[in-house]
Amino acid sequence: SRPDNCPPDVEQLGRATWTFLHTTAAYYPDKPSPTQRANMLNLLHSLPILYPCSWCALHLGQEMKVHPPDVSNRVRLSRWLCERHNDVNVRLGKEVFDCAKTDERWKDGPPDGSCD
Ligand code: FAD
Repeated sequence: SRPDNCPPDVEQLGRATWTFLHTTAAYYPDKPSPTQRANMLNLLHSLPILYPCSWCALHLGQEMKVHPPDVSNRVRLSRWLCERHNDVNVRLGKEVFDCAKTDERWKDGPPDGSCD
């Protein structure tokens, strides 16, 4: 396996980016202000332009045209992001994630307390 100090490959960059995006969505407000909504939209719309994996960016941009981001509240944003991640999972032949488990995975941890 590659040493830790190498530049990220597409997989490492993807894991880090999903961690950031899902965690940010998990802590997005239930009642976001207009400024918070606008900034979240800017963050999401910048990805197809700036994400440094060009084919990933292209695919995400296509999906975002069909499914515009829902930044109206925490639950809806988390769901929207889960679905976009599942688009990628399907394309890569990975397992589809159960979006009902998004908070457990990214915010609360499992009920058995193993992550507390
Ligand atoms: P990841 O897919 O990185 O997921 C990390 C963890 O998130 C999983 O272990 C799981 O616990 C959780 N998870 C999985 N699915 C969901 C979900 N739907 N909702 C919430 N949590 C979930 N790679 C390519 O090869 N081609 C591409 O076109 C491509 N496009 C990408 C587009 C974007 C915007 C991003 C951020 C990444 C993209 N990637 C792409 C990378 C790819 O999605 C994975 O990150 C990478 O393959 C590593 O996969 P992984 O199996 O470690 O888990």
